[in-house]
Amino acid sequence: MSTALLWFRRDLRLDDHPALQSALRAGHRIVPVYVHAPEEEAPWAPGGASLAWLRRSLAAFDGALRSHGSRLILRAGPSLDALERLVEETGAEAVYWSRRYEPAAITRDAAVKKALRARGVHVESHNSALLCEPWTVATQRGDPYRVFTPFWRTASAQLVPSAATSIRELAAVDASLASACIDALIPAPVPSWDTGFWDNWTPGERGAQARLAKCTGALRDRYLDMRDRPDMDGTSLLSPHLHFGEIAPGRIMHTLLSAQHDPRALTNCNGFIRELGWREFSHHLMYHFPHCTDANLNPRFDRLEWAEPDAGILGAWQRGRTGVPLVDAGMRQLWQTGWMHNRVRMVVASFLTKNLRLHWLHGARWFWDTLVDADLANNTQGWQWTAGTGADAAPYFRVFNPVAQAMRFDPLGNYVRQWLPELAGLPAPALFEPWKYPEQLARHAPGYPRSPMVDLKASRAAALRAYAESKPGASER
Ligand code: FAD
Repeated sequence: MSTALLWFRRDLRLDDHPALQSALRAGHRIVPVYVHAPEEEAPWAPGGASLAWLRRSLAAFDGALRSHGSRLILRAGPSLDALERLVEETGAEAVYWSRRYEPAAITRDAAVKKALRARGVHVESHNSALLCEPWTVATQRGDPYRVFTPFWRTASAQLVPSAATSIRELAAVDASLASACIDALIPAPVPSWDTGFWDNWTPGERGAQARLAKCTGALRDRYLDMRDRPDMDGTSLLSPHLHFGEIAPGRIMHTLLSAQHDPRALTNCNGFIRELGWREFSHHLMYHFPHCTDANLNPRFDRLEWAEPDAGILGAWQRGRTGVPLVDAGMRQLWQTGWMHNRVRMVVASFLTKNLRLHWLHGARWFWDTLVDADLANNTQGWQWTAGTGADAAPYFRVFNPVAQAMRFDPLGNYVRQWLPELAGLPAPALFEPWKYPEQLARHAPGYPRSPMVDLKASRAAALRAYAESKPGASER
């Protein structure tokens, strides 16, 4: 029987896995391998929260493989060396993998493919991460899209939800091939700052499936009403699972839409799938405009002058000590759970880039290190959209008012109270802008900043002046 390596990366699942299915169809004995080579992803090597998730996801995946009679072989990079060695040790004739779209991964994968093929090894890659790969969606002139709505109109017309696929028993793998263990490859964080994460998350394919099963009803019933409310459990929380490929977007779409005829539910499902569309669009932009991970997508904004980075100012934002409750609540939620609600991500990003006028890369890097769903495509797009530097940018004159946002999307203040317990005793109006209620603030929250670190109105006006020189494109959200 011929042998094939299945090089797993961000596709840590068995369900709906085209590369695995193709290798099995070809009749190969599968050797599943994960090569840890974070330096190959520089300058965006996985951050701390990602690695904490990855450790657990790999353990869960190894468990799933074992329950099918196989196991995960772990190796340290460089990737090509590790794969070539395994080809020799196993006599593998083929290497299969799922495609990635980050600039560094594309360069690495191309080099690996060339070298393996030069040795006569069959190499095959598949799409397991996206509903439509970046090169399959183009304008009538054949160009990539830069604006979401026309992108999604074209992309959504060609979506096919995936059908269930089950994996039969896999061939046993020689235990002597395993030369590394997870703890040695990706040591546990010391001190263990991630302990609080795991009350909220279960990394791995089963965790992803359980999460989808848990939220399907709510997504169908009320996603569009709830998705902007950080005080409610109104979104799927599937983002880290999607990032690590523990679940396929097509599987989510299939589950939501199957046997669904209620018009209201269909509207909600389509609203949710449109959000998956933003994930697709982010990957489309990153693939076609790879400079955007480190520079403005639209060079027109390169003339914008940013504030000099100041460790004290950046640190206050990172630690949730700005004196603006919704911003601080979001940054504390991020620190404690590794995740932040999308509405609040926009608010804290707007505060950093527009009120504090710090370059969006400072925020992107902090998110990169602290989010369990840190994803180069989505993070870049989220920051550039909010900063107003992308092609599909929010109009430069949109500066989120964190007080108005809190009143609208957290009207009872439950979100702020949950993440800023020191403000829990403040009644609602004071909770939104405590600096206007100095006596209540001094009495109920003596340790909280007396005033916001920047005047919201004056800093907004200064940002508008600075941005006004560039004429940005239209926004749609
Ligand atoms: P749901 O509302 O349930 O959405 C379902 C899925 O759709 C998400 O899991 C995600 O994969 C995708 N999605 C939803 N909204 C967006 C969006 N605006 N852009 C792209 N995809 C989207 N998302 C990440 O996955 N990783 C990041 O690193 C990331 N960084 C961000 C940074 C900023 C500044 C902003 C404003 C947004 C960022 N997002 C990022 C997008 C979004 O905030 C998260 O995807 C979402 O909050 C995840 O929660 P959920 O799974 O419950 O979302």
